[in-house]
Amino acid sequence: MKDRPRLIYDLSFNDLLGLMQQWGLPRYRAVQIWEGLYRSLWKSPDEFITLPGNLRERLSQEFTFQALLPGAELHSSDGETIKTLFHLRDNHAIEAVLMRYKTRRTLCISTQAGCAMGCVFCATGQMGFKRNLSSGEIIEQVLYYARQLKAHGEAVSNIVIMGMGEPFHNYEETLRAIDCLNHPEGFNLGARRFTISTVGIIPMIRKFTQENRQVNLAVSLHAADDETRSSLLPINKKYPISELISACRDYVSQTHRRITFEWALIRDVNDTPEQAHKLASLLKGLLCHVNVIPLNPTRRYQGEATTRERAEMFCEILSQAGIPSTIRLRRGIDIQAGCGQLATQNTSIEG
Ligand code: SAH
Ligand code: SF4
Repeated sequence: MKDRPRLIYDLSFNDLLGLMQQWGLPRYRAVQIWEGLYRSLWKSPDEFITLPGNLRERLSQEFTFQALLPGAELHSSDGETIKTLFHLRDNHAIEAVLMRYKTRRTLCISTQAGCAMGCVFCATGQMGFKRNLSSGEIIEQVLYYARQLKAHGEAVSNIVIMGMGEPFHNYEETLRAIDCLNHPEGFNLGARRFTISTVGIIPMIRKFTQENRQVNLAVSLHAADDETRSSLLPINKKYPISELISACRDYVSQTHRRITFEWALIRDVNDTPEQAHKLASLLKGLLCHVNVIPLNPTRRYQGEATTRERAEMFCEILSQAGIPSTIRLRRGIDIQAGCGQLATQNTSIEG
């Protein structure tokens, strides 16, 4: 990407301050640009009416304001979920999803094109790793939907980092993106409104714990014994369950924050009473919540979704052990809203 102009959203507020200093301009120009980008949600230099013409000109010469080209857009049948495929400047593709709940406007965003973790049931895992996204490319997904919402007098209320890719495999850029979106003089979305979902990269969970942030953490567990988990999530061979749960316990005791566990229920694989009991004993005494979601079928995985009855039975066992859980609706299944499912459908971007 050497020859391409820099993406303006890759700059932190401090970078922008430094740049204005380097250009011999006062501090307030950085504030004006930052506000233009993250409050007014302007998307081209001409819109920055607060700036003098020569500064707008310089910004447009040195930066690009768009690294994501929206492609296919799918709307769920109830109209409440929109999924967008974006082409990056090097033609890789990523996806982001907007979900409208009663009062919430939740975005699900990507941190990588593809993913190296190879979870067998995941469409993104099935496509392999392409590259990390920069913080600006992560942010631009948010701005894209924030502009659409703003046109209807609405705003983004929550961001889940559960789109394509493993955020803790792109730790710095992911956290940098959150910091930019969190900045009080700009987008100003509170840290508690973000949730990072990880497949369970233990050293990064430990690093994240040390940072003592208010960002929520979710861990994709999906199985309660190493044999089953390794067959679904290859990374489990490196970071087995007992060590993972111990890192999660340390996270909770240090941050006093509740941790979420994700569990995609696959018929006869991990939806059995035996798995539920094992899970209950693993999580005993831990401040946590379990989100179960029936598997979203993908092309290259044979497993089937669980049934409603079995999902309820699974949660009932957890409940009897005092572990709270929620069965998540498969929102937008009719628009392939499962992770990576739109990108892998479009054969032109697979190769
Ligand atoms: N890499 C991170 C975040 C992206 S995946 C992680 O693995 O946590 C977000 C969530 O979607 C994870 O819990 C993942 O296991 C789940 N997921 C992936 N493919 C799925 C499918 N086909 N059906 C149901 N959940 C799926
Ligand atoms: Fe990567 Fe998460 Fe998919 Fe696993 S589930 S392949 S970690 S995106």
